[in-house]
Amino acid sequence: RAREAIGSSCHFYTADMHNRVIDRLNTEVALYRGLERGEFELHYQPKVDLASGRVSGVEALLRWNRPGCGLQMPDRFIDILEQTGLIMDAGDWVLREACAAVRHLPLSLAVNVSPRQFQHPRLGERLMRILDEIGFPADRLELEITEQIVVEDEEGAIATLHDLASRGIRIALDDYGTGFSSLQRLKRLPLHTLKIDKDFVMSLETSRADAAIVRSTIELCHQLDIHVVAEGVENDAAMAMLRGFGCDIGQGYGICRPLPLARLTDWLGTATVSALAGRRPGG
Ligand code: C2E
Ligand code: MG
Ligand code: MG
Ligand code: MG
Repeated sequence: RAREAIGSSCHFYTADMHNRVIDRLNTEVALYRGLERGEFELHYQPKVDLASGRVSGVEALLRWNRPGCGLQMPDRFIDILEQTGLIMDAGDWVLREACAAVRHLPLSLAVNVSPRQFQHPRLGERLMRILDEIGFPADRLELEITEQIVVEDEEGAIATLHDLASRGIRIALDDYGTGFSSLQRLKRLPLHTLKIDKDFVMSLETSRADAAIVRSTIELCHQLDIHVVAEGVENDAAMAMLRGFGCDIGQGYGICRPLPLARLTDWLGTATVSALAGRRPGG
């Protein structure tokens, strides 16, 4: 049956390919079941205002407790959710779960949205229905999109972004600097926030080129009234450099790893004050 699934145009067919097809089908079925059985969970990674040291918000990151396989990271399954269309139901679950978790915390919430979710013809309504149901204010939600969303139909994407903005939802451009980054697009998209990809931030102290790119991206964004988040802040040296560059917000393992909700609230209650107080300039 796997042979049929590959199709008759396939000339080379090996045991290895066979195994990969079977693997993939098994994973699809397991994901479908996992959604029904509640095997997904969210971890939350804090974002810190670099000038004040305050936690400004969290990003929700999806994890999958696959039976017999342990906790799976998104790179193992997001593409499959996307290709099968399961991302629509998974995305609704993520938003509902994250809003319910963060509702009573004084924090903004960032949620990742993949291209297929973004292209849903009534995305705004779909999101608002969930926000209303949970009682989560739209202006505390930030959607993290990537430039992939815009590549196919830039006009349509811009219209959608304006619709979301009119509802009060904020938009962040994720992973900036990798892939399709274009200044033309940066100018045209109604963005609140830009997230500089961790590839640049992680090598800030060792690469003059990356430091220059990060610094000038921050300046450019500020000229365009766009907030800047640096992702992948792994240590104090990077944090200090970013603060010197005027970067608004930092996110990374050096501040806090993504945590399950209970551990996040512990961290917010205790670690924040001591961990971040010492990192303030002169503090
Ligand atoms: P992203 O949105 O760019 O998320 C940042 C990724 O970098 C996360 O990986 C995070 O754990 C990791 N990270 C954070 N700080 C550091 C650091 O200091 N160093 C390093 N090396 N990594 C750091 P994660 O959780 O594996 O997520 C990977 C990607 O999967 C995300 O990238 C996002 O594109 C996607 N994703 C995650 N959750 C969802 C979701 O609910 N829906 C959709 N559509 N995509 C999601
Ligand atoms: Mg993200
Ligand atoms: Mg990112
Ligand atoms: Mg990424």
